[in-house]
Amino acid sequence: MSQVLIPEVEEERLPIAFGPVRSRRLGWSLGVNNVPPKTCTYACVYCQVGATTGARRDRDAFFGSDAVVAAVAERLATCRRAAQPVDAVTFVPDGEPTLDRDLGDSIRRIAELGARVAVLTNASLMWRDDVRDEVAAADQVSLKVDTVDETTWERMNRPIGELRFDTVLEGVRRFAREYRGDLTTETMLVAGLNDGETSLRATAAFVSALDPLRAYVAVPTRPPAEPWVRSPTIETTRHAAEVFRAFDLPVSCLVEEVAERDGPFPTPGDPTAGLLGIVAVHPMTVSGARDLVARAGGDWPAVRALIRSGRIAHVRHAGRTYLRASSEHRRRPGRSATGR
Ligand code: SF4
Repeated sequence: MSQVLIPEVEEERLPIAFGPVRSRRLGWSLGVNNVPPKTCTYACVYCQVGATTGARRDRDAFFGSDAVVAAVAERLATCRRAAQPVDAVTFVPDGEPTLDRDLGDSIRRIAELGARVAVLTNASLMWRDDVRDEVAAADQVSLKVDTVDETTWERMNRPIGELRFDTVLEGVRRFAREYRGDLTTETMLVAGLNDGETSLRATAAFVSALDPLRAYVAVPTRPPAEPWVRSPTIETTRHAAEVFRAFDLPVSCLVEEVAERDGPFPTPGDPTAGLLGIVAVHPMTVSGARDLVARAGGDWPAVRALIRSGRIAHVRHAGRTYLRASSEHRRRPGRSATGR
């Protein structure tokens, strides 16, 4: 069956709704890609989907809520027919979901379909009243809090020029105070940037004041935007979790989740389009991708053709080979990431 495709990249068959993929945080999570590739307020050094090509701070209409809701409804129906459970519909694009000014409408309409809705955001726009109001309609929200030190923020998250750090942090505090759903946080640790004792304590104190249901500590395990990025050692990661616990935080490490996501999971619908949608957001090991395609009844030569055409790239990281959608090939030549 056909899938609703991102208009900008229709010829590349990149679906707006993809998966579901298995996530420890969300269960079977059907992903929603509601912004054009790499449209983000940040250019994090550890970003697993490559360099930010559409840096922006202003919200815009991208695909429209009609297209987003239609894509999700179609995917949910496909999953239902295949008896594939879906625990959450998650806004987790290869960019920042709150840049989409139709986000609120999409969340509301997807909730009306009976789905639990989650939003994973870098939290950089939580200072905006409209963003807080819209995101608050989701059942679960994950806020990124990598650091509370401005210099580290600039080095690690590399925000676009107009964002102010104190305003971003205040927006996060305010959202956490007002939000009535399931609030979680995610802190990505990068060796030498934010994994020192002082940094960990300051971040943990800030996160603790947000009173999240769970504070996730993650490390970059997939190919990062900058090749010099290193994960902290296991000992440092464990210590970070202890520091967070010392601030009364229910903490979980997301290190293991990577292996879980790479495991074989069924993907009802067109296997090649399904793989393309997933590797746009989550680079996968070649073996994980092979399992996925085989279990969905697809054939590997179709994936090879995508690799040959450059739409999917091989990326080596930490001794493993990953497949990642190539953002340069997800737009028509001569158009910006935002289509303007
Ligand atoms: S990690 Fe997330 S917030 Fe950072 S640049 Fe990538 S998409 Fe944007």
